[in-house]
Amino acid sequence: MDSERNCGCVAALENVKNPIKVAREVMETPHILIAGEGANEFAKSRGFQHFNPRTERATKAWEKVKERLKKRDLPDWAKKWEDYEPVDTVGVAAMDSKGRFATTNSTGGTTFMLNGRIGDTPVIGAGLYAAEKGAVSATGVGEEIVRIVLSKWVYDRIAEGLHPQDACDSSLKFFEKEMPTGIIAVSEDGYGVSCNTKMAWWAREG
Ligand code: ASP
Repeated sequence: MDSERNCGCVAALENVKNPIKVAREVMETPHILIAGEGANEFAKSRGFQHFNPRTERATKAWEKVKERLKKRDLPDWAKKWEDYEPVDTVGVAAMDSKGRFATTNSTGGTTFMLNGRIGDTPVIGAGLYAAEKGAVSATGVGEEIVRIVLSKWVYDRIAEGLHPQDACDSSLKFFEKEMPTGIIAVSEDGYGVSCNTKMAWWAREG
């Protein structure tokens, strides 16, 4: 998503090396979000090659999850995601030299979820948001982030004049400590990065 509110998202996309590049292609169509088989077909039609993203580390993590499933050792939802297993989300919020903003993100999702589940990451306003005053990207438990419409909430605080750091910090009040959440944002005033566990880093300024 960019300053002009151009949006492009894909969800439940398989076997593509760079899903963000496919999302960028969606931005060139009249659509905002394409999911599942339609997204796979769209990627193929735009020339994206078949790619198996499974690494050794991911395979090991998958085996662990399968073992737990066999033993019916499932997360205790009542304990509010204590057992949450993140699957490596990346996000970025950026401003260029002309003061224009853009944001994007990508995730493997969250384990122990039903097939077909879509979290916050490709949902505009939840996992990401950008407009003329700034850009925001979030990570954490998708369902909780969607409920708050977290990225739009942070953006609105920035648009009201709050520094991105203060906007990010104050957004954590919506999440209990055991609910891992991270948020990054940028505006003309600078940038912000907040998390309640070690899960959001500001990678590079400039
Ligand atoms: N937000 C992602 C999801 O719920 C996971 C994450 O950010 O780690 O799918």
